[in-house]
Amino acid sequence: MTRPQKIAFGEMRAAGVRNVLIYCTDYMCGHCIMVPDDADRWPDELRVSDIEDKFVCTACGQRGADIRPDWTTTKTRA
Ligand SMILES: [Zn+2]
Repeated sequence: MTRPQKIAFGEMRAAGVRNVLIYCTDYMCGHCIMVPDDADRWPDELRVSDIEDKFVCTACGQRGADIRPDWTTTKTRA
């Protein structure tokens, strides 16, 4: 399976996104963690998709994750 290339961390930060959401790829598990300010750990040129394989789900042990920028953090909530 080939993964689509995703946004780079630098682009994400430029868009004002500070958090990433890490989803388990096992749909039966569906474990999701939000990682606040975690983007600062990774260099600007690194793509979100480049590190997905490095994550192991803490709930079920599935290797690989679906990492998405948390776009909701760019908006002010009512
Ligand atoms: Zn899982």
